[in-house]
Amino acid sequence: MSTAWETVIGLEVHAQLRTATKLFGPAPTAYGAPPNSQVDPVSLGLPGALPVLNAEAVRMAALAGLATRCTVHERSVFARKNYFYADLPKGYQISQFDRPICTAGHLDIAVDGASKRVGITRIHLEEDAGKSSHGPGGSLVDLNRAGVPLIEIVSEPDLRSAEEAVAYLRELRAILVYIGVNDGNLEEGSFRCDANVSVRQVGSDVLGTRCEIKNLNSFRAIRDAIVYEAARQVRVVESGQPLVQQTRLWDTDKARTAAMRSKEEAHDYRYFPDPDLPPLVIAPETLATWSAQLPELPAARRSRYRDQLGLDEDTLWHLCEEPERAERFERALGTETKPERARSLASFLFARVAGVLNKSDHTWADVDAGLDALAEVHDQWRAGKLSNKMLSTLLVQAFATHDDEAADPGTPAPFVAALSTARAAVGVLEVDAGALDAAVDAVIAAHPSQAAAFRGGKPQLLGFFIGQVMREMKGKADAKAVSALLRERLSSS
Ligand code: ADP
Ligand code: MG
Repeated sequence: MSTAWETVIGLEVHAQLRTATKLFGPAPTAYGAPPNSQVDPVSLGLPGALPVLNAEAVRMAALAGLATRCTVHERSVFARKNYFYADLPKGYQISQFDRPICTAGHLDIAVDGASKRVGITRIHLEEDAGKSSHGPGGSLVDLNRAGVPLIEIVSEPDLRSAEEAVAYLRELRAILVYIGVNDGNLEEGSFRCDANVSVRQVGSDVLGTRCEIKNLNSFRAIRDAIVYEAARQVRVVESGQPLVQQTRLWDTDKARTAAMRSKEEAHDYRYFPDPDLPPLVIAPETLATWSAQLPELPAARRSRYRDQLGLDEDTLWHLCEEPERAERFERALGTETKPERARSLASFLFARVAGVLNKSDHTWADVDAGLDALAEVHDQWRAGKLSNKMLSTLLVQAFATHDDEAADPGTPAPFVAALSTARAAVGVLEVDAGALDAAVDAVIAAHPSQAAAFRGGKPQLLGFFIGQVMREMKGKADAKAVSALLRERLSSS
């Protein structure tokens, strides 16, 4: 008889803090600099170099704790985590061990309409290691990343499916981006996740042997790796073999996890308090000041939009995932906040406009000054003054990168000017309600058998009628308006 299995997941997230300089030294942290150009005596591990704690990193770590309802401790301790590797010149990583800066928080997720609270065990501050690349000619070490400030956010083993894990990570990512401590970039590795996965029989309350999966750099990889790994563990257990606690690597191309090393234990690292750093003390007044800096968090923004604008969950999620996206939407929305308009404007901006924008050389930042004008275009389109075809012509033209008219050919046209030129070129439909009425009536009268068939239950004939009316109107009508009018006329016999 086969048993029902349950997947248990706990996540460790490493998020790079957006400080200008490293955690214990003055070197800059910008991504993509030439190898070993952003180093200082501390990150190089030069003898005698002493760490000086970056206060901004402490503020950011505390903010992350506050935003996830953790206790932010007045006193925490930096510890040395000892191991040998070429990209760790000091021979130890400065981290926090038994006295982390934040503990015991939580975060709420929603999966399939059900809400669930996921515990956050701890958040600690630590420095990143350098980066090694191994090739046929030998191995290279880049120490730009060595000493870059990270927070590690450790969840309780509260997650029960790959979907829940992804929902948790998306929410956490959005929170960190909202509070300005992380840029949320999985591809560049500034938001990284290791997934601890085990399986157990449904109903059991003891945890199974876990494997920790590394090398997950997209939400897709995280979902696929968890599903794969849980199935692998069930296969092993059901075949009667023992499960070995391991660190495993996700291989995106082969879509499977492979053993990397047997799991290390805390005592392997010989943790001890770093004698170069005094305990970190955060005064309660300082913490209160930081607490007052917390902006509206994504969940609060979603519920505000849900209540005020009646948006559906998918739209809410998409809009509130990035703070800039939500702010753009609010600016474009203005004071006309009826749910139908809000919904339509959201999909107009983030599906139609975004579709054209992404194919151009523009970014949303170029669009910002033209948000009002875009909202006007949306309203005209909704009112039937622009057909779908006119709208797409207008958008494509507005986003065409190079303005031939520009004084200096080859420089991108400012979007706002380009938009206004495109609007003038495309014009608007003069909606002549009388002419449209007449055309609809004439077409129905000219095709009595099709009209009867439509009424008799052939709704697919609507397309035929729309085509006939558009022909009658010589294309100068809005398909949505034509369709609405036809439905009305054809349903009343
Ligand atoms: P380590 O630091 O060695 O990785 P931790 O005890 O800090 O170990 O746990 C790391 C993560 O593993 C946490 O997110 C925790 O929830 C998760 N975890 C622990 N045991 C299990 C288990 N049996 N199955 C799934 N996840 C687990
Ligand atoms: Mg771990």
